Amino acid sequence: MEHVDVAIIGGGPAGASAAERAAYHDAETVLFEQGVPREDRAEAGPDSTDAAGMLDYWIDIMDFEFEEIPDEVVHRELDGTDFVGPSSSVELNTTGMDATYQKFGYTFHRARMDDWLHERAIDAGADLRVGTSVKSIDTDLSGPSHTLALSSGDEVEAEYVVLADGPQRRVTLDALDQFTKPGSSISEQLSPPKANHIAYQEYREFPEELFESDRLKFWWGYMPGETAYPWVFPNDGTVARVGLTMPIGMTLDDIDNPESYKLLKATDDGIPSGSEYIRRLLELEYGDEYDIEEDFPIVEDRGKSRGTETYPISSTRPVESPVGANIAVAGGAMGTTSAFHEGGYHVAVRTGKIAGRLAATDSLGNYNDVWKRAIGDEIRRNVAFADIVADYEPDDWDRAFETVREMQGSSGGDSIISKKYSAGIGAAKILAAYKKRKFAYRNGNYVQFSEDEYIY
Ligand SMILES: Cc1cc2nc3c(=O)[nH]c(=O)nc-3n(C[C@H](O)[C@H](O)[C@H](O)COP(=O)(O)OP(=O)(O)OC[C@H]3O[C@@H](n4cnc5c(N)ncnc54)[C@H](O)[C@@H]3O)c2cc1C
Repeated sequence: MEHVDVAIIGGGPAGASAAERAAYHDAETVLFEQGVPREDRAEAGPDSTDAAGMLDYWIDIMDFEFEEIPDEVVHRELDGTDFVGPSSSVELNTTGMDATYQKFGYTFHRARMDDWLHERAIDAGADLRVGTSVKSIDTDLSGPSHTLALSSGDEVEAEYVVLADGPQRRVTLDALDQFTKPGSSISEQLSPPKANHIAYQEYREFPEELFESDRLKFWWGYMPGETAYPWVFPNDGTVARVGLTMPIGMTLDDIDNPESYKLLKATDDGIPSGSEYIRRLLELEYGDEYDIEEDFPIVEDRGKSRGTETYPISSTRPVESPVGANIAVAGGAMGTTSAFHEGGYHVAVRTGKIAGRLAATDSLGNYNDVWKRAIGDEIRRNVAFADIVADYEPDDWDRAFETVREMQGSSGGDSIISKKYSAGIGAAKILAAYKKRKFAYRNGNYVQFSEDEYIY
C-alpha cells in the first residue's frame, strides 16, 4: 500500500491551502479532489461553490497580500455594500476593521482563485489527484495511522489526515464518528439537512444603466427563515451573480407572518424554489420598467448547470478536531463558514494553512489552539451576530437599519460595530445584545463540539 505523511481530502480553498503548507514544510503530501465539471472550466476541478466576495480584512485573515493574487482572479474592486430592508436601507462604505487592503473588498472569479491555490500547492511539491474521491477513512489509533479507501479501488495509508471536504462532510462525518458516542455523535449534530443551508444562484446580464460595478447588494427581511436573503454581486462586464441562501426543509407552516415577506405570495402553497425567489426579486425591483427574462438574460456559459448553481452551505458553529488521532478538520467541513453573512473562503484558507503546517511539522496537537488564535475573533463576531438576527422578522430588519443610519449620522462614519454609538435606545439595545452574545462566546465557547468530547 502507498504511504504518505499527510493526506488531504477535498481540494477547495481549505484543502489546497493545507496541501501547499504541508508540502512547503517538506511533508510527502497528497490531496484528493473528486473533481466537478463547470461550464467555465475546461477540466473538472474543485467544486467551486461560488458567489465570491472578499472583504478588506479577510485578505489579512487569509495571510495573503492583495498584490500577490493574480489580476485575472479579481472581478471588481468594491467601494461598499447596500443592505435593503422591506422599507428601509443602509449603505456601508467601510467594514470598520483594520485592514492592509484599502478598498472595501472585491469580487472574484472563484474557479480561477481555486485554480491558483492548486498551482501554489503543486509548486510547493504536493501531489494533487483531481478526479479521485475518498470513500472512507479507517483510523488505527495505535499509530495513529489512517487507511483511505479511494474511488479507484486503491488504498493509501497516511500518518496525518486533513478533512477539507466542505459542508456536505461526506467523509468527515464517518471519520469523526469513529471517536464519538451514539447519542452525541458528530453525524447526529452535523447532519447536512440540519447543519446546512441551501444556496442557489444565477448569472444574469444586467442592463448597463442598472449595473453597479463597485457595490454588493443584500435584501434582508424579504424572505422567511434564519439567514435567508437574496443578493447581487457584480462580476465582469455587466454580468452579476444573483443568488440567495435559505434553510433546508422549511415549510409555510413554520412561518409566523407569511404576509409580511415581500417575496412570498398569498397564493403560495409551499416555499418558492430558489429560481422563483430570484425571479420575484428581479420583478419586484425592476419589473415595472423592464422585462426580466428579456432584459436580464441568464448567462449560460458559467456555473455548474447552464448559468445556475445550487450548493449546500454550512451554517453551524465550528467543531474542534480530534487531534489526538492525528486528524484536523478545516474550512467548511469544520463549520467555519459564517451563518451570518455566509463568508467562509478566508477562514477556509487560514484553517487549511494552519492544519497543513502543523501536520507537516508533527505538531498537529496544537491545531485547535492555533486556529482559535488566528480566526477566533472573526468566528466569535459572526456567531454573535447570527444569534442576534436569528429570529428577525421584516420589521426588525427595518428597525435595525434605521438604527444603523442614525448611528452613521451621529458618528459621522459608516461602520457598524467599531464606532461609539450615540444614536439612542435602538443603538444601545443592539450594542448590548451584541456584547452579551460575544461575552457568552468568550474563551472559545463558540465551538459546537469540543476536543474533550472525542473518545480515543
Ligand atoms: C452560494 C455560495 C456563496 C458563497 N459566498 C461566499 C462569499 O461571497 N465569500 C466567501 O468568503 N465565502 C462564500 N461562500 C462560502 C465559501 O464558498 C466556503 O466557505 C468555502 O468554499 C469553504 O471552503 P472549503 O475548502 O472548506 O470547502 P469547499 O469549497 O466546499 O471544497 C470542498 C472540496 O472537497 C471536495 N470533496 C468533497 N467530498 C470529497 C471526497 N469524498 N473526495 C474528494 N474530494 C471531495 C469537493 O469537490 C470540493 O472541491 C459561499 C458559499 C456558497 C455556497
